[in-house]
Amino acid sequence: MIELKTGEEMDRIARGGAIIAALYREMEQRIQAGVSTGELDRFAEEFIRSHEGAEPAFKGLYGFPGSICASVNEEVVHGIPSDERVLKEGDILSLDTGVRLDGWCSDSAWTFPVGELAPATARLLEVTEEALERAIAAARPGKHVGDIGHAVEEAVRGTGFAIIRDLVGHGIGRKVHEEPQVPNRGKPGSGPVLEAGLVLAIEPMIAVGTWRIRTLSDRWTVTTTDRRPSAHFEHTVGVTEEGPRILTALRDPVASAT
Ligand code: MG
Ligand code: MG
Repeated sequence: MIELKTGEEMDRIARGGAIIAALYREMEQRIQAGVSTGELDRFAEEFIRSHEGAEPAFKGLYGFPGSICASVNEEVVHGIPSDERVLKEGDILSLDTGVRLDGWCSDSAWTFPVGELAPATARLLEVTEEALERAIAAARPGKHVGDIGHAVEEAVRGTGFAIIRDLVGHGIGRKVHEEPQVPNRGKPGSGPVLEAGLVLAIEPMIAVGTWRIRTLSDRWTVTTTDRRPSAHFEHTVGVTEEGPRILTALRDPVASAT
């Protein structure tokens, strides 16, 4: 069942979402060669809990051990933070974080460069971020879930990059994962209709090489099968009559206007 949220409920989701945005701003300074993903995880947990009532929503979710997913290079999603995993120059690091505040969840991912990137990797980050922007722009009442996936496809077309097919975005609210699923490919006008009040985690995952993925023996880390890099950008977005409302932004234009 797809549950719609009121404007006030979106405000609450946005309060948690702003914590993730602020965390990522802090992370930008901290992500550099020589830093481990375990250190980043501890910083993230402390940062989230320093906001009254806020908890890392991923910690313990389906048994996940970290407060953040930290996926390096060919790791697409669900990388387990570790003191053994030390970043080096030229890496990319995809962080994925959920916050629960007052019973409402928010979810956002960002891929960060570690120093200078190879040109194809730098381009991958640009294309994936643009795919997210275009997908968000499609999240309007009267459109369909398929229009979101189609917008991702349009952003990737002609780049030679591949959309990860087997992982999808999702509805979000009281739980991190709610209906509907939000695939990153789709036909315009297909799938469930987008109604005002729908809150979606929109999250294109795009790889330099193949779209095929596998899960490592740690039972969490998902990598590309060709071990070439993959990027991930995600926002929690409210569908409103006024247009898409990004609920994991540092400043929420709708909330700050009221
Ligand atoms: Mg996420
Ligand atoms: Mg998500």
